[in-house]
Amino acid sequence: MHVNFTDRELFIFKKIAHAAWESGLPSYLIGGFVRDKIIGRPTKDADIVCLGDGIELAHKVSERFSNPTVSYFKNFGTAHIRLPDFDVEFVGARKESYQRDSRKPEVEPGTLEDDQDRRDFTINALAISLNKDDFGTMIDPFGGLADIRNGIIRTPMEPVKTFSDDPLRMMRAIRFAAQLGFTIELQTFEAIKADADRIRIISQERVTEELNKIMLSPKPSVGWDLLFKARLLQIIFPQMVDLYGAQTIDGKGHKDNFYHTLQVLDNISTETDDLWLRWAALLHDIGKPPTKKFEEDGWTFHGHEVVGARMVPKIFTKLKLPLNEKMRYVQKLVALHLRPISLTKENITDSAIRRLLFDAGDDIEDLMKLCKADITSKNKLKVKRYLQNFELVETRLAEVEESDKIRNWQPPITGEIIMQTFGIGPGRQVGIIKDAIREAILDGDIPNSYEAAYNLMLQKAAEYNLQPIA
Ligand code: ATP
Ligand code: MG
Repeated sequence: MHVNFTDRELFIFKKIAHAAWESGLPSYLIGGFVRDKIIGRPTKDADIVCLGDGIELAHKVSERFSNPTVSYFKNFGTAHIRLPDFDVEFVGARKESYQRDSRKPEVEPGTLEDDQDRRDFTINALAISLNKDDFGTMIDPFGGLADIRNGIIRTPMEPVKTFSDDPLRMMRAIRFAAQLGFTIELQTFEAIKADADRIRIISQERVTEELNKIMLSPKPSVGWDLLFKARLLQIIFPQMVDLYGAQTIDGKGHKDNFYHTLQVLDNISTETDDLWLRWAALLHDIGKPPTKKFEEDGWTFHGHEVVGARMVPKIFTKLKLPLNEKMRYVQKLVALHLRPISLTKENITDSAIRRLLFDAGDDIEDLMKLCKADITSKNKLKVKRYLQNFELVETRLAEVEESDKIRNWQPPITGEIIMQTFGIGPGRQVGIIKDAIREAILDGDIPNSYEAAYNLMLQKAAEYNLQPIA
């Protein structure tokens, strides 16, 4: 199979090759870059393995470029050269052996073959020679090219040993399956199932990095479903597993919320690449299992949006996702995900629309995307009707926003103004007056103007015997 380097890549690799010839260090392109080149995925970094000292090679290479940023990591024997548009990592070929009682491999210098043996999957073990006599030749000891062609993830060595040496590889296998749309070969998958429990020894940060890559893949459900079937999900994210299954009592069932959630996630992934909107889709029904009840008319999940929103910080903490405005955004969308639906069921008043605009703020479009993605009925007529209802809501949202400008709205009377007007300090009364003004405007009882708000302030204050000073 032929690999098409860009002119820029060829320019860089020739410089590296010349430096390597001069230093007498046989060198190879290896791993992810080679794989992605063959698949045709865009790549901006490459790994070079050399027979000898990778740091020495990096020194020699850096001399051939003007102003590269070079970092050397003596402890790992690696070096990194950052060019304006491309990153190259250098490492000496090595042989790794794992002892049963230690997670850290014993590492010693090795041959190219040793280095390919320690790679996780056949598709990641391909090498391209940069040497003088066979520049550009592919070295494929495990049939990685065929596996790329056939879309197969398989370990080069015995799978049970490969995963027990480094359990993160289980996550990587599933992540590549999701990213590339490949199938995990049966024995490889069986080995993951058998060893799933060992994922516990991997740090949460590294596990979550793979989860985020699954989330950003074209069809994230592939990854989550594999995590579930491999029984990894049960260990790393049990609340997701609680969504699984459809219970029936007295002939009344409910939908399987695990597969519903995955469908919603795939739906939204056709509309957005935003990681956090995708997380919101994954978590939108996470409060269903703890709120599930069987009542006279069937199954209910009352308040699941509130309970779900409350679960978000706990889940983010456990998964070591950021506890910042991203988390609050996810939490907000989970909390609000039923609101637009409720607006399709009643006669929509302007005040209900204003309240949704006020609560959602600038996230209103994302919320509407989530709600549309939440429609997973197989009945085409129903889907059409729901979508039409949402269009109606969207039209109304646009109209009300146009006239009332609620999205980034702050009530015209602030706490400061109230305190100054009546010569009082912060306290309960200030809050009550402020809330009354906000509610009156959102309900449409008074117009959204300074004057109307000011008059209401005076009126409310009088109820507390407050008089304006001066
Ligand atoms: P991506 O860059 O998309 O995350 P990648 O395969 O390039 O995918 P890297 O972490 O960049 O992953 O690693 C580069 C190469 O190093 C891989 O292609 C693989 O050959 C090897 N490798 C990485 N992690 C492992 C691991 N845990 N076990 C064995 N080999 C690994
Ligand atoms: Mg890489």
